[in-house]
Amino acid sequence: MSCDVLVVGGGIAGLACARHLVRDGLDVKLFEADERVGGRLKTDLVDGFRLDRGFQVLITSYPEVRDSLDLDALQLGRFIPGARCRVDGGWRDVRDPWRDPLSIPRSLLRGVGSWSDYAKLATLRRKARAGTLDDLLAAPAKSTAERLREAGFSERMLHTFLEPWLSGIFLESDLATSDRFLFFVLRMFADGHAALPHDGMEAIATQVAAELPPGVVHTRARVRSATPTSVTLENGESMSARAVVVALEGGAAARLQGLAPTPPPRPVRAVYYAAERDPVGAPLLVLDGEGRGPVNHLAVPSTVQPSYAPAGAHLVSATVLAKHADATQADVRAQLATWFGSDVSGWKHLATVDVPVALPAAVDATPRPVETPDGWIVAGDHLGVPSLQTALATARAAAACAKRRVTQTASAA
Ligand SMILES: Cc1cc2nc3c(=O)[nH]c(=O)nc-3n(C[C@H](O)[C@H](O)[C@H](O)COP(=O)(O)OP(=O)(O)OC[C@H]3O[C@@H](n4cnc5c(N)ncnc54)[C@H](O)[C@@H]3O)c2cc1C
Repeated sequence: MSCDVLVVGGGIAGLACARHLVRDGLDVKLFEADERVGGRLKTDLVDGFRLDRGFQVLITSYPEVRDSLDLDALQLGRFIPGARCRVDGGWRDVRDPWRDPLSIPRSLLRGVGSWSDYAKLATLRRKARAGTLDDLLAAPAKSTAERLREAGFSERMLHTFLEPWLSGIFLESDLATSDRFLFFVLRMFADGHAALPHDGMEAIATQVAAELPPGVVHTRARVRSATPTSVTLENGESMSARAVVVALEGGAAARLQGLAPTPPPRPVRAVYYAAERDPVGAPLLVLDGEGRGPVNHLAVPSTVQPSYAPAGAHLVSATVLAKHADATQADVRAQLATWFGSDVSGWKHLATVDVPVALPAAVDATPRPVETPDGWIVAGDHLGVPSLQTALATARAAAACAKRRVTQTASAA
């Protein structure tokens, strides 16, 4: 069997790449190892609750999200920009001071940060918003921890808000991640909202997949080996094409291309509970500003998007980072009881979802080209700042590259 382009991997990068190629009239086949497409964008229905495979959000300001997705059709529910921080046994809200300037005196009075912290944040934010996104991501980098130290934030601002907030995005606690990721986040959060689709994060992948005609997507079809012009499935079936796009997570992509192993990816754990009452009372992200753990951050997705829970119930999502990998569900519940009191003992534990490959290590987050010197075409979030933006942007670039190959080989034939 042969066709124009074979796409390996049915995460958002592979699906978006296939959709670009199909829109250009090419003959495409996509192979996905799992029983359904979506990759890391999966949502499971458990007792009427929508459980994403790890808490994550769609940031509405990602340029590729705006260009590639029909946001209205996703019926997004939005978080309030900012966070609620656990500090000194109580709660402090940090609102985005640029969108909610009236919150500044409250935040100052209640001791999350000083004027000087806000001025430092403004300096970083200005840098993040200057120039193009490509310029920002190509600038020389240092670790986020170093950048924040150099900026001179107060210990309180660091521990209460910046560290837990950024750890929750990078999925690592040392903030060893490149400050390219920091600036990317500051730029995107300056203009966009963190949101959840009505049908869960998987709806993003479903929307893209819906445009692929029957016969393009093959699930339960694990690719065993590949070359830049052919793939062989685990069942022994082989196919050739004018181009192959490898749209896998970084480690699997390296294995398929016969490259050296990549640094270990970042895992994460989501612990889900059903609660009768919303313990937060606002569509806000909750941060462990005391650094005790095991929970780094918590959200009540059903407050943002009521479809995440059946009527009369709420979904609580607590995220545990690798640093606390040994923590049990009982440890999580015990911490949450100190936050929300005796109600927590009545919460029903719905599931603990371990995601071994949540984000690539990508410590330096250097943008990499989709075409390699060996002739491979690749797409996926491991090629830059790990995010839906990178997955979708590399999908677009990989599709353009594959289309060029198809045209060149057709005219040479
Ligand atoms: C808990 C969590 C939180 C996150 N938070 C955010 C966030 O807030 N904002 C954000 O922008 N991003 C976030 N992300 C990252 C975002 O989900 C990813 O960047 C994006 O989904 C990656 O898409 P991908 O297509 O590159 O890779 P994947 O989704 O990993 O797709 C790869 C696909 O390849 C398949 N596959 C693997 N091996 C084979 C094989 N041999 N043959 C065939 N198929 C194969 C896999 O089954 C998978 O479907 C988060 C991710 C997680 C897990």
